[in-house]
Amino acid sequence: MELEGKVAIVTGGARGIGAAIARELASAGATVVINYRSSAAEADALAAEIGGHAVQADVSTTEGCEALAEAAKVHGDVAVLVNNAGITRDGLVLRMKDDAWDSVMNTNVGGAFRMTRAVLPLMAKKRSGSIVNIASVSGLVGNPGQSNYGAAKAALLNLTASVAKEMARRNIRVNAVAPGFVETAMTDALPEGVVEQATAAIPLRRFGRPDEIAPMVRFLCGPGASYITGQCFVIDGGLSA
Ligand code: NAP
Repeated sequence: MELEGKVAIVTGGARGIGAAIARELASAGATVVINYRSSAAEADALAAEIGGHAVQADVSTTEGCEALAEAAKVHGDVAVLVNNAGITRDGLVLRMKDDAWDSVMNTNVGGAFRMTRAVLPLMAKKRSGSIVNIASVSGLVGNPGQSNYGAAKAALLNLTASVAKEMARRNIRVNAVAPGFVETAMTDALPEGVVEQATAAIPLRRFGRPDEIAPMVRFLCGPGASYITGQCFVIDGGLSA
């Protein structure tokens, strides 16, 4: 119960990878603030299951992020922030509309920046905190059809390293986890041919499950990771090896 007495915010925590992270942090003793944008029923059910708190907020907006940080601090010391909320708007760059570029940037990296800015004063006061950004293997290598998503995730990795260096003297650690293909609504949307091709390229020959990503996030938030900051941990079944 290494996170006993601590508040953890998980953005996009109602389903998919975020829900697995929320469960894992709750089992480490944290009071979890489960943020959602539209999945109210899932967020309420998960909050009841793990004794957490569901909070509606759109992390692509400054107001949403500030309101989420305010709502979280009511429950105690905000010691953990997991920037998990993310979207895809895949398409070839030649045909990509501004809206597909802007919405992916605003959510996947803009949301992490705004949430980080909103919680840092709370963590700095306590001289302690852990931020984990959920990046992607798509941020490490190029991927046709994902120029917006890959660029946002690559930017998230630099945000991770830069904020880690800025905040280290306040004992706030910032790390990233980069999953490969994981079974969620995001990958359910992939065409069958793409799934087959991807599976063949993964040495472990299958997609991962959300509960195979969450333990690394728990580890990074706990005392075992006290000397780890500014790093990215890849969990992809060997895809990028
Ligand atoms: P998912 O099942 O589609 O879930 C996405 C989550 O993000 C939902 O909970 C959604 O909330 C939330 N969200 C989206 N926009 C939001 C906003 N503006 N404000 C607040 N919440 C927002 O996807 P997932 O696979 O679990 O993805 C979670 C993270 O892992 C993402 O950052 C994704 O890029 C990353 N990732 C996924 C994979 C994969 O293969 N699945 C691989 C690498 C990285 P609502 O439902 O309430 O809208």
